[in-house]
Amino acid sequence: MARPTFRRFWVEIHPDGSASPQFDPFTGKSHETSDAGQPVAQVLFYPISPGLAEKIRAQGDVAEPSELPVLSFEAPPCQPIDLEKRPLPDFYRTGTLRYYMRRICGFCEAEFGTDVEVCPRCLAKNQWYCGTCDSLIAEPIVDRERDQVRCPICEKTEPRGLKMIRCIGDFNEEKLYTHYVLEIDGHRHLILDYKIKCKQ
Ligand SMILES: [Zn+2]
Ligand SMILES: [Zn+2]
Repeated sequence: MARPTFRRFWVEIHPDGSASPQFDPFTGKSHETSDAGQPVAQVLFYPISPGLAEKIRAQGDVAEPSELPVLSFEAPPCQPIDLEKRPLPDFYRTGTLRYYMRRICGFCEAEFGTDVEVCPRCLAKNQWYCGTCDSLIAEPIVDRERDQVRCPICEKTEPRGLKMIRCIGDFNEEKLYTHYVLEIDGHRHLILDYKIKCKQ
């Protein structure tokens, strides 16, 4: 089960001017639930810096640095504040599970994208081996019609299929991205933790 990945964090500003950050800026410790119940005048969202991401990871949470813009939301000034309940604005966190196809090198365990065929760290790659020639074949015959990969040397006498020596594996990486829902004065704001990629 993937744990939430934080790319943004919130800071609650209370009516007396004091602030409660989601993560302690010095230790990276999560204060997500400890200040619940205090009135809130403003909620700010900041991108996680590389330094804070490191501190958060040291505390066992998952965080990634980002360059997302700072967002600021004001609570209505005359809103009655009920200290018994979680006060206005109504605010909660939810997650989106996303999958990424990734590749891993069996030799050095480097991870890279699926558009790369050769390990960028140790240059390992999947190889084709011919049992008759007892050698690696750099330029095999790729027969897509029959879904075969054959040895070009043996092709002239007795066509032979090649065996793949696998060094690079594909796997699915799971990431639970967080987003926040903030309701102020009947308006629902969705605070995403990633930029939506626009098609060109
Ligand atoms: Zn490698
Ligand atoms: Zn051969």
